[in-house]
Amino acid sequence: MNKVLEYFKQIYTKPIFQKITVYGWIYNYEYQLIGSALPYLFEKLDITENLAFPTNTNRPQTIKEKKYIVIHDTGDTSLGRGAKYWSQVVKEQKYENKLYEASFQYVVGNDGIYHNIPDDEVAYHAGDGTKYDYTLYDTHIKQANDCKLTIKEGYYYINGQNTNIKVPDAPKALTTSDLNDNGILCVVQNGTYHLGETYFNQTYQKIANRGGNNNGIGIEMCIDEKTDLYLNYQRLAKLCAMLLDKYHLDLSSIRPHHYFSGKDCPMTARKNHLWDHFMKLVEVEKAVLSFIKEGYEINLIPKSSNILSSGRIINDCHNICFIVTTKKDNIEESYEFSWESPSC
Ligand SMILES: [Zn+2]
Repeated sequence: MNKVLEYFKQIYTKPIFQKITVYGWIYNYEYQLIGSALPYLFEKLDITENLAFPTNTNRPQTIKEKKYIVIHDTGDTSLGRGAKYWSQVVKEQKYENKLYEASFQYVVGNDGIYHNIPDDEVAYHAGDGTKYDYTLYDTHIKQANDCKLTIKEGYYYINGQNTNIKVPDAPKALTTSDLNDNGILCVVQNGTYHLGETYFNQTYQKIANRGGNNNGIGIEMCIDEKTDLYLNYQRLAKLCAMLLDKYHLDLSSIRPHHYFSGKDCPMTARKNHLWDHFMKLVEVEKAVLSFIKEGYEINLIPKSSNILSSGRIINDCHNICFIVTTKKDNIEESYEFSWESPSC
């Protein structure tokens, strides 16, 4: 068995089957999330270019180096509010006849993936302003197993040692509990910990990271009612894998909007604890992309009627059966997966 089929065999697990609440700013809805045959979406990445007008104020055309992929959801649960709808909002900078000042590079939905702002330009989605770029400050603290960050008397501490880096200005004395849920940027360079630029977000009362708008590629995921939500997560993961590869970024470059502002976004993924599952999807997409780049053609052939050739499970997930085929240098191989169960 070749390494591709071996890999799929290895990652094949029971599909996720979870009742969730989808959170919108107008209304929430209950949803049965059903995973796919494999945590890989057997579909080509298809992106529709629909760039915002260069005269728009939500497209300043400032070029910046990209260090992050910033994940959002639209928070718009209304029927029909898919990717095309939100892409047009950015393009025309108009939402319900009012000026729409925000922008983001991509929006992902059941109706496709739309590209609104060129990747290398600044967009307004992260809530951290555009004054500060991705910057690292050397703490001179030697690398250990883990970068455990705390705050004491106005300074950041790593693993109990004072970094001599002050916490940002705030109307109150900041403590460790004021950090956003995803922490602050801490990377190792030349054997010592370096911290990123931080600030205190007044709206969400959290210490957050800079560089979201300037150095991030912002992606919105649609959560409109009646959408196949899991398909959107998989398409989002596939888009992320392509961008990681294209810009030579690693998985840690993918951050939720929350990291840059303290906002509860992407809210549905956060509240239903789906972030780690989503990151696993990105990891798989990235691995399979590397096989495709080596020249493998990879397909799924459904053998049971509850599976589409994309791997999406429809209706129910009893008795799943499918074949994965690979072709490289005219050598074809396949492996049959089958799984019998009374329920997911
Ligand atoms: Zn957001």
